[in-house]
Amino acid sequence: MNSDTLKVHAVSLGCPKNRVDTERLLGSLGPSVVAAGHPENADLVLINTCGFIRPAVEESVDAILAVQESIAGLDPRPVLAVAGCLVSRYGEDLVREMPEVDIWLSTRDMNRWPALVREAMAREADPDLPRRLSTGPAYAYLKIGEGCSHRCAFCTIPDIRGPQVSFGVETLAGEAEDLVAQGVPELVLVAQDVAAYGSDLPMDWDLRTLVERLLPIQGLEWLRLMYLYPAGLTEELLSFLAEVGRPFLPYFDIPMQHAHPEVLKNMGRPFARDPRRVLDRVRKYFPDPALRTSMIVGYPGETDAQFDALCDFVRETRFTHLGVFAYQAEEGTPAAAMPDQVPEGVKEARREEVMRIQAAISEENLERWVGEEIEVLVEAPHEDWPGLYTGRAWFQAPEVDGVVYVSSEPGNPFLPGRMVRAEVQEAKTYDLVALA
Ligand code: SF4
Repeated sequence: MNSDTLKVHAVSLGCPKNRVDTERLLGSLGPSVVAAGHPENADLVLINTCGFIRPAVEESVDAILAVQESIAGLDPRPVLAVAGCLVSRYGEDLVREMPEVDIWLSTRDMNRWPALVREAMAREADPDLPRRLSTGPAYAYLKIGEGCSHRCAFCTIPDIRGPQVSFGVETLAGEAEDLVAQGVPELVLVAQDVAAYGSDLPMDWDLRTLVERLLPIQGLEWLRLMYLYPAGLTEELLSFLAEVGRPFLPYFDIPMQHAHPEVLKNMGRPFARDPRRVLDRVRKYFPDPALRTSMIVGYPGETDAQFDALCDFVRETRFTHLGVFAYQAEEGTPAAAMPDQVPEGVKEARREEVMRIQAAISEENLERWVGEEIEVLVEAPHEDWPGLYTGRAWFQAPEVDGVVYVSSEPGNPFLPGRMVRAEVQEAKTYDLVALA
């Protein structure tokens, strides 16, 4: 399956009315449907059956068995759908006899067809592995897709994991509901590029569809989006997010990787001649967002002047959080074969320089919270100090950002996973200290 087409192999049995039904079923899947030619080549095989008389029943059953045989063992296997009179007539018996069929559609349920196809397609993309949370009671990651369809010159992910495969909205919503039902108040959406969610699916789904489906989940307090490839932050997405409000958090993790257009071009990240435009777009809709980014210094060919431009950009943007990495050549990537590799010592010095700039910015940014009352999501008791807990404010993502150290009153312990209100007493370089 690719992003533009849904390859369908349709078998229409019985009368002309049934053929019209088949055509309607195909038509209702939208313009992306193309004929697969044969079942082995299809994303979806549809057998629209007839069950009117015995020979027709036999012909229908034979047709299903023939298709099952031809697609058995394929990986990925096409979704197999059986519709029509046979299903209306023998419904439950068929479901028992033929567990390989993914979708059973009786003539009474025709209007559910597009939704059933979407769900089955999503199940195909979903690894469906059971989860045991490793992140404690305060948050959980919701992985919304696998792989990546960008081709950044330094990155091995597209080769290792293949192109992006988004999981289905309903599958993800089910997983999200389960997680929140376990008491997890914060969900963090992750993928290689969260903003590109859905672009590989044949149906009309995007990140908005998914966020809209997740927001009403009862008990979900914070919904955070990580890894937003800059170009995906469109006016449409931002204006939508600006409207929805909580539990969506105005926290934008936008891996920029560099700020100089020439380096970005060499990185194969042609998202903007001027990366400032992406941030201006975010700020147009969110006047006071939390902004996180990551940067790579010492990319092949990075000159002193280009590095200085990166530093200026960091000083000027005043990111809430910033991760900086010294470029490492990954075997097999185009960047590894580029001339003008930067010496290790230079790379490391540049990394330290950016960290030094950001440390001062972070401290200043955090100062503004001193004296403010903020909401803190309690994560865990501090290992050494009774009555002290680590937690996070909305502008701090788990694991990668700083924390809030929050103290409870004696005899009034906090429960990890709960929100508390606390007054910020002190700002450190990356962390806050607060009293509930
Ligand atoms: S750096 Fe990120 S966006 Fe670029 S190819 Fe790798 S995973 Fe995809």
